[in-house]
Amino acid sequence: MLLIPCPNCGPRIETEFVLGGPVRAQRPEDASGVSADEWIDYLTVPDNPLGLLREKWWHAKGCGAWMVVVRDTRTHDLNPSENTHG
Ligand SMILES: [Zn+2]
Repeated sequence: MLLIPCPNCGPRIETEFVLGGPVRAQRPEDASGVSADEWIDYLTVPDNPLGLLREKWWHAKGCGAWMVVVRDTRTHDLNPSENTHG
């Protein structure tokens, strides 16, 4: 069970949260310079690294805030120093 550090409520169990998925790369401002394969990857392939991953979480059963949490996918350790409001 993860203890997710909500910036408003403090550490709370993960069942109070809804996972919003990984934080995606910035959308290219000039799509004309992006190949079709790169565009398809951007739209459909989520990041799934072995290691640190930035994820969006919603404190649905708490204060209702969205936040970004950095989680190590190998250990599920959370890195509170890199966590921010989302
Ligand atoms: Zn909260």
